[in-house]
Amino acid sequence: MKKAVLLFNPRSARHKYRVPNSILQVAASIDGNYEYAFVDGNLESDPWSVIKSHLDSGKFGFFGSTVMPGPQLKEAIPFTQKIRKEYPNIVNIWGGYFASNQCDVVLRSGAVDYVINGPGDSAFPALLDAIDNDKPVGDIQNLIYLEEGKVVKTRKEVLPDMDKLPPLPYEKMNSFYPLENYLGKTFMGSKTFALHTSFGCPFTCSFCAVVPIYNARWKGQSAEAIYRNVTYLKEKIGINGIEFHDNNFFTSQKRTAEFSKLILNDGIEWWGEGRIDTIDRYSDENLALMREAGCRMIFLGAESGNDEVLAQMDKGGTQSAEQILSFAGRMKKFDIVPEYSFVLGMPGPDEDTVMRQVEADIDFIKQVKEVNPDTEIIIYLYSPVPTEGSDLYKQITEAGFNFPENLEDWLNPSWENFDLRKNPLTPWLTPKVIDRVQNFETVLNGYYPTQSDFRIKGVKKGFMRTLASWRYRSGVYGYPYEIKALHKIWKYRQPEIEGFYSE
Ligand code: SF4
Repeated sequence: MKKAVLLFNPRSARHKYRVPNSILQVAASIDGNYEYAFVDGNLESDPWSVIKSHLDSGKFGFFGSTVMPGPQLKEAIPFTQKIRKEYPNIVNIWGGYFASNQCDVVLRSGAVDYVINGPGDSAFPALLDAIDNDKPVGDIQNLIYLEEGKVVKTRKEVLPDMDKLPPLPYEKMNSFYPLENYLGKTFMGSKTFALHTSFGCPFTCSFCAVVPIYNARWKGQSAEAIYRNVTYLKEKIGINGIEFHDNNFFTSQKRTAEFSKLILNDGIEWWGEGRIDTIDRYSDENLALMREAGCRMIFLGAESGNDEVLAQMDKGGTQSAEQILSFAGRMKKFDIVPEYSFVLGMPGPDEDTVMRQVEADIDFIKQVKEVNPDTEIIIYLYSPVPTEGSDLYKQITEAGFNFPENLEDWLNPSWENFDLRKNPLTPWLTPKVIDRVQNFETVLNGYYPTQSDFRIKGVKKGFMRTLASWRYRSGVYGYPYEIKALHKIWKYRQPEIEGFYSE
């Protein structure tokens, strides 16, 4: 008899939880062929005891975990290690950006047997079949494993046609965790749900974890298929808001316009991630249509107001500082909120150069706010992604940066923060530079609190703004304790840490 599969989503949020689309997608690939169970660390107070009770049943042979950088490591690492020790016959398989991008340290830990490198729709069932039937795994695409002490990466598979993939097993998920658990009250709607409708991204930004996995490829579900899914979820659990968690939802103007036409009268608001230069090519007609169809906010990687830094980042396309500013104005016309993310603290030869660039980006962010005060600003500190062979990777290793050599080291709080790009252990980012960035961010969040935390409004918003205004205007950002205190008291939620505030 075939051994069953335990699919685990380690805890990723302390607040409202998103449906674990990654393990749902993997489940779809084995649905009907293997028995499986879900454990969602976000919804269990003691996920280890649930995992243990499943494994004690003796019917499971495989443990599959998605592992994204950041908080998920806290459960993924110790639990997988415990499984290796207490249930040595279980085959441990990891997927997700952390597993792929740090595959060396993951596999050499001895706790993980295989890493699924990118979409697992074909790789995962093929791997189970190979193990069950004692067949070689070398021909399975999108796989990483150790062979005679060497890390072997198999060929990348052509991205699958999402319309031909089996549907996500929502009913099965519902039998473990009612789907209502995953509805959040956000600024978009009282019942916001997360969807994933495409693979990859056609660009190669050198700081982006998506690039080594997808190598500039993108493939999306058709507008009709997305809408079918939306209709199902609307009828089943009444969704009225959607977060599209695709890396680049807006790659195809045609698809976005078709989807907008389909969802036009459904009363659903939505958010997704895109590129400034891509969406700036959209026609006025389509931007107006998108807004009418519920597109409320778009996350866009602005990155920097310096064209040379954009080139250093390999941002690609036609994005320039001028376009970033003019696009913020264009979005204002259509009442779609641009959510701009900036990556500050790119490597430089010395502290002064890095600081000068940080100051220039701070001034640029203020210019963006002048053009369109509704623009949401997300600030990340640059943290390296292991795109070996890239110029930037060479620069950072020459500057003395190294990733941890042991899997357990990633449990150190500073490395966990590193993954959230909040406190990178990068030699060129001195405490002075980091303080300047983080203090500005606090002042900015005081003067312009995010709209996505919809609790901060009216008197609260006015008070915080007044308190922060002298700092914002004068550039005196140091020690902004009074603003931090208010953020703490009102439990202000910055979207870059755990996503939008939701209840
Ligand atoms: S456009 Fe966005 S998703 Fe695509 S490579 Fe650049 S940062 Fe990554």
